[in-house]
Amino acid sequence: MTEEKKTRKRLQANTALREIIAEFYADGHRAKAEGRPVGWIPPMNGLIELFYAMDVHPIFPENWAPLCAAMGTNAANFSFAERRGYSPDLCGYFRNNIGYALDGISEENQPLGGLPEPDFLISFGAGCVPTMKTFQVLCDRFDVPVLRADLPQVAMEDIREHHIEYGVTQMKRLIAFLEGLTGKKLDMDRLSQAVAYTDEACRIWDEIMETRRNVPAPFSAAEIGIMFVMVTRHGTRVAVDFLNDVLSEVRGKVERGEGVIPNERIRLFWDNIPLWYNMKLFNYFEKWDAVVVAETYTSAWTMRMDPEKPLESIAYKTLVSYPLVSCVSLNKRIELIRNAVRDYRIDGAVLHSNMSCKPISMGQMDIQRVLRDELDVPSVMFDGDHMDGGKFSMAQFQTRIDAFMEMLLARS
Ligand code: SF4
Repeated sequence: MTEEKKTRKRLQANTALREIIAEFYADGHRAKAEGRPVGWIPPMNGLIELFYAMDVHPIFPENWAPLCAAMGTNAANFSFAERRGYSPDLCGYFRNNIGYALDGISEENQPLGGLPEPDFLISFGAGCVPTMKTFQVLCDRFDVPVLRADLPQVAMEDIREHHIEYGVTQMKRLIAFLEGLTGKKLDMDRLSQAVAYTDEACRIWDEIMETRRNVPAPFSAAEIGIMFVMVTRHGTRVAVDFLNDVLSEVRGKVERGEGVIPNERIRLFWDNIPLWYNMKLFNYFEKWDAVVVAETYTSAWTMRMDPEKPLESIAYKTLVSYPLVSCVSLNKRIELIRNAVRDYRIDGAVLHSNMSCKPISMGQMDIQRVLRDELDVPSVMFDGDHMDGGKFSMAQFQTRIDAFMEMLLARS
């Protein structure tokens, strides 16, 4: 084992990212003060273009949870949820968000000023059970209008024209709901423009991720917080401008041959959600000259949208946003891993068996089988939790990873 190397992982873009995060939440509070509606929505993210086209501010509880984990308020939110009788075995996003909404919201010193309260809620009957249950609790908690809709939950590869047509009918219901709420008609040109921004953001996102095919890789999984703009600022120039800056920065690193670590020897794939309260964990691999160069999670944004067909595009985006990551599409996930192993020259895979997220953890044994039998790529699985540090043992992680890395080095 080599000595720990000095990391060069931090992208300069992180400075701008911090401002974008602060501005997103500040804008939510401004919207509230100015009378622009604030809607809390599940991460069925085809709605965001519609919101921005109608001057409605979106809030995603599921995006709030990782921020709470990173800033350390998750533990308090968990105890609020537990005191209300919610089991600590439930998904950490669910426990954090309902704990926050039920009790934490009235506490002082919340990160970024806390969440602006909703003027309405969108509750879709799709996605994983914890997401649907979150909105069930929120609907009881806040006395505001609710739009309930239903969406077919089909694997990404099984989406057909009739699913999209049905999705469009739900989008039209949502448009009528928002028009009633805001008293304004939707301007279809603005929606097309928002869809065009998202399409451009997705195109740049793919280019950014593809720079990691280079050896050495210009950045590691420790940087995937840049996906904040993909969740919250799709449909706007903010995402496009920021991602263009990230792309220039990482391309510059590739041209200069500047990797995350000076002598990259092992390239790793990561499956499942990172430990949001411990992103430094990705640096642990550096002492073996190893870098995480690809993940399943970041691939969720690999899609294109058609500004000429804005309603179909947002319906499609909404339909695909969950199945890929929440494992309805195991075949798609395996195909993605096959491609990553080839394109990113993967030497080994680290699978996070996530106690919080059963949907994304399902299928990991099948993934390990494909890695071993078909791709000849060793893998290791460890138990953890993407939100709750109390369910992760660093000592156990180190024991397992140390042995795995020694084995990979012996093969290299
Ligand atoms: S997909 Fe996983 S992490 Fe996200 S809300 Fe559902 S169970 Fe929790």
